Amino acid sequence: MKKIKTIYLDHQATTPVDESVLQKMMPYFGEKFGNPHSVDHAIGWQSSRAVADSAAQIAALIGADADEIIFTSGATEANNLALLGLLGRRSDRRRNRILISAIEHKSVLATADVLKDRLGCQIENVPVDRQGRVSISAFESALDDTVFAVSIMAVNNEIGTIQDIRSLSKATREVGALFHSDAAQAPLAIDISSLAQGADLVSLSGHKMHGPPGIGALYVRRALQEWIEPLIHGGGQQNGLRSGTMPLPLCVGMGAAAEILRGDRMHEVRAALRHRRDRFVEQLHTLPWAITVNGPAPEQRHPGNANVCFHGFSAHDILNALQPTLAASTGSACTSGIPAPSHVLRAIGLSGDDAEASIRFSFGFTTRDEDIDAAIDLIADTLGRLAQTTVARSA
Ligand code: PMP
Repeated sequence: MKKIKTIYLDHQATTPVDESVLQKMMPYFGEKFGNPHSVDHAIGWQSSRAVADSAAQIAALIGADADEIIFTSGATEANNLALLGLLGRRSDRRRNRILISAIEHKSVLATADVLKDRLGCQIENVPVDRQGRVSISAFESALDDTVFAVSIMAVNNEIGTIQDIRSLSKATREVGALFHSDAAQAPLAIDISSLAQGADLVSLSGHKMHGPPGIGALYVRRALQEWIEPLIHGGGQQNGLRSGTMPLPLCVGMGAAAEILRGDRMHEVRAALRHRRDRFVEQLHTLPWAITVNGPAPEQRHPGNANVCFHGFSAHDILNALQPTLAASTGSACTSGIPAPSHVLRAIGLSGDDAEASIRFSFGFTTRDEDIDAAIDLIADTLGRLAQTTVARSA
């Protein structure tokens, strides 16, 4: 039977592990298997060194120090640890407000609900414009000395908006509040080498940056660490902030991925991504159906993100009809299964119908020009077929 190739345009859901990253991980499943917390023998010391090196690589990606990196199971846990951890040991009860953007990932939104329900915090959504950008002036007018913390993502996972984290964190610090940024989608999209200088906490995810799944990291500024309440209690590993034996091969893999993403070549890699994405959108515009690209202008968004509204179509029908030849998604993969239009698209002003007609295409290291051309042919063919059945149905 002939094997059908699937064109993968869903890199914001997850990325394949880079081949060189996998090679670096392999020995740690076998000959170098030691527990990094075994302090009594050389095999343990070797593993502990490998974990410390990985932490240093991740720290270097964001301009932090190795002892400020806490390994987690992913960005979901990092976001939970950042917000629940901070609030768990809050001393100043007058500061009770938490500001988050309206387009945060569910792992921030749902955690904010817990802060409200369990800890009585007042959660305020900072609105965004049609590009998904937080307005600095609206943000500044919401800030005062009753704000305890702010959580705003660096790069959006659905529409690729790049926030001005430097200005947002500066304004936050001026009122003495703490700043957290979910940067899970940032490493591929932008240079984040000075992110830790402005933020107090930063979340990262291995599988969004061509590293392994099942691992993430939370940067916690050193001076803040004693104020974080752990979510996971046990043997006191990682400074007591996250107990449990560290998954050595995954730590090594995330470190190796961070090293690639920090490299000199990233400028070219991002330019190539941008070029392919723009070519894809240009070709979509030549098809005989009305489309709109949702969100920011090309130069102001993740270079590998295109979120496209196919007016009059259902995104689910298009994606279903494209299986198994093309993988893309109707929004955040983490929310698929919940039959509600994307909160991100609604927040930037799309109608329910347009939100349900929108597909996120996301490109990564492995996307080639041929994939773009083949994807356009498949989409053109699919829209043609769907348009016919719709006309036939309505005739
Ligand atoms: N934040 C953002 C912006 C994301 O895109 C995702 C993944 N969809 C997450 C957090 C959760 O990451 P993880 O899968 O590592 O838990």
